[in-house]
Amino acid sequence: MKHLITPSIKSRFVSLALSFAPSAVVFGLWSWGALASLGSVFVVGRGEASTQPQWWVAALLIAAAGMGAGFAVERAGGRRGLLFVGAALAVLCAASFAVSALLRIDILFAPMLLAALASALVVQVRRLWIVDTELTRNLQRVARRASATEACAANVRLSGGLKLLDTVLPLKEAVVFSLDSAGVPAPAARLRSDAQGSAAAETNRNSAWREGVKLCERAVRTGEIVIQPDLTASQAEGGCPSIVVVPLRHAGRAVGALLVRLREEFDETDRPLLKNVSAQLARDLQRDEARAQAAPADSATLYSARAAEHRLESFHMIAGLLIEQGFAAHALSEASDGHAVAYLDGTIAYVNQPMLAAARLTEKDGARLDLFGLLDRFRAGVFDEPSIAVRRVLQTGDAYERELPFPDRNQTLELRIALITESRREHNGQGALVVEPLCLAVTVRDVTRIKEYEKLKSDMISLMSHELRTPITSINGFAELLAMDDTLPESTREFLTIISSESQRLTRMINTFLAVTQLEQKDRQEVLKIPLMLDDVVRETINSMQPVAKRKRIRLVEREGGKLPPVAADRSLITQVVTNLVENAIKYSPERTAVTLSTALEADAVRVTVEDRGYGIPPEAVDRVWEKFYRVARDGHDKEEESTGLGLSFVREVVEQHGGEVALESEVGRGSKFSFTLPRL
Ligand code: ADP
Repeated sequence: MKHLITPSIKSRFVSLALSFAPSAVVFGLWSWGALASLGSVFVVGRGEASTQPQWWVAALLIAAAGMGAGFAVERAGGRRGLLFVGAALAVLCAASFAVSALLRIDILFAPMLLAALASALVVQVRRLWIVDTELTRNLQRVARRASATEACAANVRLSGGLKLLDTVLPLKEAVVFSLDSAGVPAPAARLRSDAQGSAAAETNRNSAWREGVKLCERAVRTGEIVIQPDLTASQAEGGCPSIVVVPLRHAGRAVGALLVRLREEFDETDRPLLKNVSAQLARDLQRDEARAQAAPADSATLYSARAAEHRLESFHMIAGLLIEQGFAAHALSEASDGHAVAYLDGTIAYVNQPMLAAARLTEKDGARLDLFGLLDRFRAGVFDEPSIAVRRVLQTGDAYERELPFPDRNQTLELRIALITESRREHNGQGALVVEPLCLAVTVRDVTRIKEYEKLKSDMISLMSHELRTPITSINGFAELLAMDDTLPESTREFLTIISSESQRLTRMINTFLAVTQLEQKDRQEVLKIPLMLDDVVRETINSMQPVAKRKRIRLVEREGGKLPPVAADRSLITQVVTNLVENAIKYSPERTAVTLSTALEADAVRVTVEDRGYGIPPEAVDRVWEKFYRVARDGHDKEEESTGLGLSFVREVVEQHGGEVALESEVGRGSKFSFTLPRL
């Protein structure tokens, strides 16, 4: 067995010094002659006088035996040390007989034996005392920490439990009794629903109380629920109210009793209810008691029965807390999503039934499962290497999330792997904040229905949009035709032009919308990707957007980003992305400002940035501008501007389809910086 407390050099010296003391006492006794009769047992030839060594040799022999035994116990531990000491003493005993028989010399075996045993005992007691002190200190610390982390004091919880009973039962009075050291019930928490005032009622109450205490004692003694008619109440109120006493037991030990006076007769179906609430009350009560007991001073713990009792209380309290800690995991068995908790060594700590079902495992397989065994069950095209996902989570601390399609079983699962950590302050809440990693939580949610619904929705929308396009084309065509008719009055022709331009706008909106929905339905692999130089795309866009920019006297500037590697992308989609960003930059900037386009190489991606000195976007809208149909409300916003709230959702959709990311930094009144990355080839 490994030593719990590694002895230091200092501790070894203390042990040696301690074992010297009994040796000195034994030497004193020997010189005084007190050990003569004992000594004669171990020498042969009792009648004849055998030579005794000189006093200093005797002192050395006794000290050597005592300190040797002390050292052996200190080094090798109690049991093994005593084995060595026993063997050495057996040899010495034999030597004593032999030497006394042959040479008539007494080698002082008896004093040596006494010194060795006494020293071994003293050193062993000291070792036990050190371990015990450490154990007590740790136990107290854990118990203290446990009570500090609890949401509220245990007696508050006791009253809470009584209130719960009051809510669910026709309660007149409920009392939780704790047992004092003599086993006599004393009230720990009490709740009364009726307010009685008269003197007669008060005397009535006193006899009822005594009766109640007696019932509690009976319940505690028998360990059974006691139910009987409440005679004190029945005369006054009629009917047949009951009095019920439930013994409270925690960790196999009686800690108190719950007395309940009901307004009605006890309903047998309430028996499990009372039992369930009592289990919690027992835990609360025990914790209350453990906390109330003052911790004895450290020094006397090994020899004090009170200290030992206190330790036992603390231990029971921790046991109760452990049970409560497990509640969260048990509650997860009720969840409809799959949940698994894995320790950071990959052992599965908990897995619920829906998770086993999603992983297509039986309960028996679940017992033998480890983290990777579980994740392997979810291998899919987009999740082909679980180890990489876990590695990333452990490296960054960020959760890993993926939607996993399983076409063979017509199912889409959403997988999430997250690192659970706990932040706490060191040194009793005063020191630095430490983040302690605890475990990995794996969640699997079946999103098949949601996906189907989303697909249905977008299918319907695109169908409708297609259907809308045909009538709009006719409206636009005929309006344009009519507008060319010179015979019509000027104002009519103006209206016709408005009809035509508005219907064109509607067509553009529908087209963008269709493009976004089509992209959403596409798989990543479906987008046609060819090697593409992003700086070329930027230059082309600047050229094509120049006329629009000039109209607002805005300067389009390109900032060179050095030589760039190509990316794999669909040229027309990416050109549309850059165009959308530049269009927005121009649209949401005042006249005579500049819009800067730049490209830059990052670790494994190329970034394109479009920066303007425009109106900017308020912080609360920054994350939302990418949503479909989202438009930022701005004071003095030009209503004439064509705005659909679709441009940026198209940008994000395209970029994510290509495996890139979009980003936005913006400050109201100073401008915005939109950028996106695409993985380099
Ligand atoms: P649209 O421009 O058609 O309204 P977008 O999806 O392109 O739709 O943009 C969404 C919203 O984001 C816009 O309504 C606008 O308010 C805001 N926005 C986009 N780009 C910029 C920009 N460069 N500066 C300020 N606001 C912007």
